[in-house]
Amino acid sequence: SREIQLKRRPVGAPVAEDFATVEQAVPPPGPGEVQVRNLWMAVDPAMRGRMSDAKSYVPPFALDTAMEGPAIGEVIVSNDPAFAPGDLVFSRLGWRQAFNAPGTALQHRDRQALPPQAYLCFAGMTGLTAYAGLIRIAELQPGDTVFVSAASGAVGSIACQIARNMGCKVIGSAGGPDKTAFLHDVLKVDAAIDYKAEPNLTKALAREVKAIGASGIDVYFDNVGGDHLQAALSLANDFARFAICGMISQYNVTDAPTVPRNLTMLMTKRIRMQGYIALDHMDLEAEMLERMTAWNQAGQMASAETVYDGIDKALDAFWGLFSGANIGRTMVRLG
Ligand code: NDP
Repeated sequence: SREIQLKRRPVGAPVAEDFATVEQAVPPPGPGEVQVRNLWMAVDPAMRGRMSDAKSYVPPFALDTAMEGPAIGEVIVSNDPAFAPGDLVFSRLGWRQAFNAPGTALQHRDRQALPPQAYLCFAGMTGLTAYAGLIRIAELQPGDTVFVSAASGAVGSIACQIARNMGCKVIGSAGGPDKTAFLHDVLKVDAAIDYKAEPNLTKALAREVKAIGASGIDVYFDNVGGDHLQAALSLANDFARFAICGMISQYNVTDAPTVPRNLTMLMTKRIRMQGYIALDHMDLEAEMLERMTAWNQAGQMASAETVYDGIDKALDAFWGLFSGANIGRTMVRLG
């Protein structure tokens, strides 16, 4: 089985030399262990954080060891009575083709309800991230005007659809005309901003708020930070709620961040801004899964995905997150 190991900790943007693809034998599973062949793995920006050894909410990846990440696989051999060959299982043991693990590292997934990769996308942590941020952190209400940054990305594309399905007006921001076309045509947002084509994001957001007949934004779902956060502060209505999901514009920055310059509007507009981590909201998982499955079956939840084929393409998939090459959830088909 081939796996991707971290060889050294990247400084700034990761480069190919920070990683190695290694062939690893997978012996028959030991007592209580299950052997799994991965069918799909996903990559996400949070993995960049785990490549560094700075203290965070999850421990860093170990060097000279396969990295970790969400994966969906199929049980091949099982020495745990809770699992049988052919079972579909979720694990955090991505970045490898196959592995042995104790049954406690695996969770069953329903093969009939959804296609396997959906459990890495809208019916997985990506869906939960969007759902918890909007429903619990931002306390989304029908009729709200919602601004979503990195709107064509994995979390963003689901956030747009949840808000739309709940009767909100949605303004999405993404980089490039292909992505704004996707926001209009597939996600059916009310307005889309190509932030790479806009010299002044705050002016662009003001224009789109006006165009959809809104007074400002009630909810900001932040994936990006920086200029996007500044623009959202400027266009916020009084008592707006900001769910801070991520700040990808800052992850590879080596100097001190320069935006937002001014947080005074938090006070003058009585904005509530809260960061959150989806893992703290696992109690919403069952509710999220039920609503996502229902929306999907009603044709109201498109599974937006960019698929790369084979473990050897996994790093290309990862670079794509930072270059903006990918639309929706970025996954690698391993099976
Ligand atoms: P995405 O699929 O959204 O990929 C990242 C996207 O970010 C790219 O496609 C790119 O789109 C955009 N981007 C990259 N650099 C910049 C930049 N400098 N300025 C503006 N946009 C940029 O990834 P995810 O959906 O997995 O993650 C989205 C965010 O959510 C991240 O910030 C991530 O860290 C966070 N996250 C937080 C979680 C939590 O529990 N709080 C859980 C999971 C994710 P474009 O071409 O439009 O620029």
